[in-house]
Amino acid sequence: MLGGTFDPIHHGHLRSAIELREALGLDHVLLVPAHQPPHRAAPGVSSDQRLAMLEAAIEAEPGLKADGRELLRDGPSYSADTLASLRAEYGPQARLVMAIGHDAFLKLGEWHAADRLFDDAHVVVIERPDHDAPLPRALEALIQGREVDSVAALMARPGGHLLRLSLPTRMAISATFVRERLALGDSVRYLLPEAVIRHIEAHGLYCPSST
Ligand code: ATP
Repeated sequence: MLGGTFDPIHHGHLRSAIELREALGLDHVLLVPAHQPPHRAAPGVSSDQRLAMLEAAIEAEPGLKADGRELLRDGPSYSADTLASLRAEYGPQARLVMAIGHDAFLKLGEWHAADRLFDDAHVVVIERPDHDAPLPRALEALIQGREVDSVAALMARPGGHLLRLSLPTRMAISATFVRERLALGDSVRYLLPEAVIRHIEAHGLYCPSST
């Protein structure tokens, strides 16, 4: 599972998802848009639109799947609840992985029911350019004794471990940067898939008149 606001989805997310799948030998990567992200302001673009952009982005890639389960729950979209629902669906023996970028990882100690994340899944941290701050204390306590240093060690169990992973492509693209360019009317070509750009244009998303 790679959760996020995906406001909008961009090539940084997509390359990470592809390379994560290859590095860990996963059946597939579920991209799960947050309906109500608990740790940030509500996105300006609706959950349905963010899911639609995600679906357009991965249409031709069978290893990636859009998963709208968080849109079906009211209240904040807690990853602990999403992982519990995935665990119930896939069963106790399935190897489940929640992947997060290093920026999101730094705040993991503040997440709702952070301990429960490790009950249901492994956590894999994707290193990201420009995000290498030291670990906060609460995070060190949360991950103590959980870190492993190889994919083989991680995949030997259904969940409970932490692995930091450096993927081959590290892209310094963020959705914030994409939104800023769109608001200025600047080109976002090659930062995100053409199908997503077409969706944004067709629906008038992120332009100054739409906010
Ligand atoms: P924003 O700029 O709005 O904060 P974002 O680009 O960080 O957005 P999110 O939807 O918040 O995108 O990210 C979802 C997940 O993908 C997070 O775990 C984040 O760390 C990770 N991620 C986002 N961009 C990249 C990237 N370029 N490389 C690797 N991981 C990324």
